[in-house]
Amino acid sequence: METDQCGGCGPIEHPSRAATLHLLGNHPVLDFTNTSSGRGSAQWLDHLQQPADLAAWAVHAGVIAPDLPVGVVSGKDLRRAIALREALYRTLLCAARRQTPDPADVRVIAAEHGRCLEVAALRGVSGSPAAPALGWHWPQGGGAAILGPLVTAALPLLTAVPPDRLRCCPGKDCGWLFLDTTRNGRRRWCDMAVCGNRAKAGRHRAIRRLRPEQEECGE
Ligand SMILES: [Zn+2]
Repeated sequence: METDQCGGCGPIEHPSRAATLHLLGNHPVLDFTNTSSGRGSAQWLDHLQQPADLAAWAVHAGVIAPDLPVGVVSGKDLRRAIALREALYRTLLCAARRQTPDPADVRVIAAEHGRCLEVAALRGVSGSPAAPALGWHWPQGGGAAILGPLVTAALPLLTAVPPDRLRCCPGKDCGWLFLDTTRNGRRRWCDMAVCGNRAKAGRHRAIRRLRPEQEECGE
């Protein structure tokens, strides 16, 4: 399925894994940004290709209940989701790097927040006395039922998370975002079993390539 398209022009063609992607971000908004990887590289992947991919990911990630009819997620919803996702990704990267985000991205997030709240209902929720008394709901379903929970969760994430705990995986063609919740704060990879091992294998290959030269020098 993969083609030789220019990595700088857009994502390569590949089957979407939206319904099975690993949820490693420790936050639904970070998992949402991780529906794409390797942005701008030759291995740029985007798993939100069809409206059904967005619905499948939202169910998989627990953002919406499984009984949301897939048909109510439209192509327009998908375009809104991708615009929001990319604005969030760039803004979160800025937060992690202690940089000021692009005002255009902030406008995209704020506009989507406004659109979602316009069709939201604020209802009482049952739970423990310590739990919040009210919660946002999107009774009409559709794209707002997916983007609403994400964009309302994104605002506190942007302003409340310590930047040294918000990380971008340095793995080749990755760039996934995650919250480092380890006690020692030394999580480096989105997934040690994938990007961590790939980097380790790359280092071993580099050492093997160098070894004959080193042995020659030592003789
Ligand atoms: Zn990674």
